Amino acid sequence: MKNILLTLACTLSLFAQSKTVFLITDAEGVAGVCRQDQTDPKDAEMRELLTGEINAAVAGFFDGGATEVFVWDGHDGSATLSVLTIDPRARLIMGGLPKNMLMERHYSAVAFVGQHARANTPGGVLAHSYSSLGIQTIRMNGRPVGEIETRTALAGWFNTPVIFLSGDRAAAQQLRDIDPDAETAPVKEGIDNYTCISLSASFARSLIRERARAAMAKTAAIRPYRIEGPVTIEVEYTSRSALTPDAGLQPGAEIVDARTIRYQGANFLEAWQRARL
Ligand SMILES: [Zn+2]
Repeated sequence: MKNILLTLACTLSLFAQSKTVFLITDAEGVAGVCRQDQTDPKDAEMRELLTGEINAAVAGFFDGGATEVFVWDGHDGSATLSVLTIDPRARLIMGGLPKNMLMERHYSAVAFVGQHARANTPGGVLAHSYSSLGIQTIRMNGRPVGEIETRTALAGWFNTPVIFLSGDRAAAQQLRDIDPDAETAPVKEGIDNYTCISLSASFARSLIRERARAAMAKTAAIRPYRIEGPVTIEVEYTSRSALTPDAGLQPGAEIVDARTIRYQGANFLEAWQRARL
């Protein structure tokens, strides 16, 4: 029986379809990035550090069997990465993405590089949820969430597993809390928001390449993170971003207080499409 299964697996893999990876990138979770001034998209050192980690992950995915890797420049205004320095096997997605983040293209896997923890995470380096100036907290079905949880749920909606995350230790933990089989590469430990203990760039890159390879190799064993049933997304803005009086008029929206709005949806995607972040 084992032999038959093995033969079947080999035959299937010969005819295997493309294995595509969608890589979401950010700056705050990169090794050696720990101060706010380093997150300027034009900061030369940050760009080099981030690009090095991305290329390490891309190499790892190809080592693990990927056939295509799409890298999205997801940090602040999508103005950080360049096709001059990205791994030539990867393709770069530049610009803002629609709410679905092109996940309806059904990638084989989604991954994060340079990811930070959600707002209000103890020991999270430069932790925030989508907008550090605009958003205080986001809650999904009553629990605090950030980019990691919402994007992993979005991928899960399209039956795509999140297989890998590199970032600070707190961010890695937040992915594993909802996606325990994912591989992570913690490249720094946060002491507080602006203080960290970081790996060197070269150590971080080797760790990322190895874990990305391992993640890709076991993609089939990682379950997509699916949120079933009706979903509520509550967005608490910062004082400077307080709501306008008509904010509650759109379908599924309800004003909770001057800077908090609650969006309801019959399912995750409906609530997600309604939420303004
Ligand atoms: Zn971010």
